Amino acid sequence: MDIENIKKIMEIEALVHFAKNLNECNVHEKYFVLSKSLMAEVVPRWNKSNNKFKGERKAYYFSAEFLMGRALSNNIINLSFKSDILNLLDELGMNFNNIEEAEEDAALGNGGLGRLAACFLDSAATLDYPLYGYGIRYQYGLFKQAIEDGFQIETADNWLEHGDPWSIENRDEAVIVSYSDQNVLAIPFDTPIIGYGGNTINTLRLWKSESLVSLDFEKFNNYEYDASVKQKNDAENISKVLYPNDMDREGKKLRLRQQYFFVSASLQDLVRKYKKSHTTINDFSKFHSIQLNDTHPAVAIPELMRILTIQETIEWDKAWQIVTETFSYTNHTILAEALEEWPIELYKELLPNIYKIIEKINIKLKEQLIHKGISSKNIYQYEIISSHNNIRMAYLSIYGSHSVNGVARLHTEILKDTQLNNWYRIYPEKFNNKTNGITQRRWLLLSNPELSDLITELLGSDGWITDLKQIKVLEKYKDDEYVLNRFLDIKNTKKKQLAEYIKKHEGIEIDPNSLFDIQIKRFHEYKRQFLNALHILDLYFRIKENPNLDRVPQTFIFGGKAAPGYFRAKAIIKFINDIKNLIDEDPDVRDKLKVVFATNYRVTYGEKLFPAADLSEQISTAGKEASGTGNMKFMLNGALTIGTYDGANVEIVEEAGEENNFIFGLRVEDIKEIEDSYDPIYYYENVEGLKRVMDTLIDGTFNDAGTGFYRELYDSIIHGSHNSKPDAYFILKDFESYRDAQIKANTAYKDKLSWAKMCWMNLVNAGKFSSDRTVEDYANEIWHIKKHK
Ligand SMILES: *Cc1c(COP(=O)(O)O)cnc(C)c1O
Repeated sequence: MDIENIKKIMEIEALVHFAKNLNECNVHEKYFVLSKSLMAEVVPRWNKSNNKFKGERKAYYFSAEFLMGRALSNNIINLSFKSDILNLLDELGMNFNNIEEAEEDAALGNGGLGRLAACFLDSAATLDYPLYGYGIRYQYGLFKQAIEDGFQIETADNWLEHGDPWSIENRDEAVIVSYSDQNVLAIPFDTPIIGYGGNTINTLRLWKSESLVSLDFEKFNNYEYDASVKQKNDAENISKVLYPNDMDREGKKLRLRQQYFFVSASLQDLVRKYKKSHTTINDFSKFHSIQLNDTHPAVAIPELMRILTIQETIEWDKAWQIVTETFSYTNHTILAEALEEWPIELYKELLPNIYKIIEKINIKLKEQLIHKGISSKNIYQYEIISSHNNIRMAYLSIYGSHSVNGVARLHTEILKDTQLNNWYRIYPEKFNNKTNGITQRRWLLLSNPELSDLITELLGSDGWITDLKQIKVLEKYKDDEYVLNRFLDIKNTKKKQLAEYIKKHEGIEIDPNSLFDIQIKRFHEYKRQFLNALHILDLYFRIKENPNLDRVPQTFIFGGKAAPGYFRAKAIIKFINDIKNLIDEDPDVRDKLKVVFATNYRVTYGEKLFPAADLSEQISTAGKEASGTGNMKFMLNGALTIGTYDGANVEIVEEAGEENNFIFGLRVEDIKEIEDSYDPIYYYENVEGLKRVMDTLIDGTFNDAGTGFYRELYDSIIHGSHNSKPDAYFILKDFESYRDAQIKANTAYKDKLSWAKMCWMNLVNAGKFSSDRTVEDYANEIWHIKKHK
């Protein structure tokens, strides 16, 4: 790279964009001009990279979510520009940290599913695979979270406020998306996905919705100001926010509009480009492999059928062959509420042509089922259009794809054995497992340079950055006191850095010598933050009773957002904050026990939290967490898992050794056995301390400000509600076993060296959980694409 050129471009950008000299720019402007100057380096390489894949088979990742986080540091690292840029900024008298912190996260996703998409893009580019992301350029990402009086408050995430220097608007390639009542423009915004080493730069293409007509001139002239921009607003609303509230029908309709919007735009884009260099569409599936990230983009199946049969006039059966060869589907959850279904009347109203195609797909499915010998009384089990007149998107996805995968071994087994057993029986060859992974570039190299340097030093090479399996060699240091002490020093450094960040952002002081016990993930009953909270409260009472309890001080850190309409999850956030205050106000306990709520958890906060953790909380009800990827980020940073046999935890302890983690609680088989006869009241009354902590919800210990949150939360455990059994997630049943595991962990932490050895065994055995491995498996077994250096 040419550093003088970077400097020159920064100066020009400052001038033409902000009419300022570089040194007069504010921090947002500095971030913008630095990023733009890097884009000047990136774009020629990007074009070159696109050219090298011309005419080759490619894979496309269709996803409603891409949880990218920040781009600047990541891109500087992947381009190997770090030291040059730091020197330049030094010379210019600019502080890199401040500039870095000025960047807003691109939080165009909720959690694991969206972050997986981001890790896959990074891995594919690093491995020189042609993988392109397609999604929506939401003007507002996932809401920003604040906490007031312990309650979650949501505000809009205006991530584009200071501009987005990393994307290129490409109006030449706009397409029109048609609904029954509306035609809108889809404008592509392209962001470079820079592989490590900068050899391959792929593209994330996100669509923004616009109106074909921005102003109804006649109406405006006629003083009808609101009406004159109605068409514009209606069109722009489609890409306005991630997951609009869908409690009522208008919200649902908007979500359906969003799904069809990006899927239709993306397929039109692929077909148009393909036809430029091919005379027939018949070979479309030889050049395109499309991965559906869950069912949100499943409408791609009938949409491609529409394009092929109506626009391209291909006969149905041939078109269906192309479609099933093109698509593959990833299932991310077995939670019933997440298995998407759409009322047919909504489809009929908004997408009547697509609905007709789905009806025909369903008829063809039934023919095939009969052909396969399924008796007519069993056919209802498979119908894409259910007897309740809903379109079952998972079934559409399975039938329309050649591959169906789960995201961890246990999850795939559950899909095959129970959830999708009927489909597995007729299409066993479609089912396969792809255990999730994470990119070590962001989750170790970028977020933990100190530990990265130690690994490189011990290995004598930085080959692990693109081949994580290499760190297994470092297992030989598991009893090496010098190395273990180096590890402990680094952990201590990361804990101090986190403590400073928390002081600054939450106004709370925490002790870096205490055990950092961290649970960061979306708030959901199945993830059981409530179990963690009940245990902390029990610990509080135990310390009150016995001030000499022999324990290492422990700091419990929570982070995560609750869906705005998910009141029980919001009640749990409030409960955690009330426990925090109770402890803070009690001089007998506050030096031994601390609770922190890390506000507005997102990728960037994660980058500070994962490296500083001693204990990783992965305590979901067995069978409910499909994989988890947070668990892998902790492992890679040398934290021990306290967790259940669920999702990828099973594979984590298989790699790192059960003796190096704290596994507790019911397993999937246990739950099957007890679920019909489970009575939480028995545990409530008989497990020591459990009634005491549960009753704080109803005995006036805490105050939910008249919301009724606490009574409802209590009732959901003790009595159940109209749509769920009491304690549906087995919190009371697992409480004692969790407490035992917590005692073991706290005791183990006293012996620093033996603790460090366990951490080390986790770190060096994390190789399997690189998303490089996952992407290799997708590329070889599903996409059949080739690397091109
Ligand atoms: C990794 C990640 C997740 C997923 O965490 P789980 O513990 O697997 O649910 C969610 N949000 C963010 C910001 C992440 O980085």
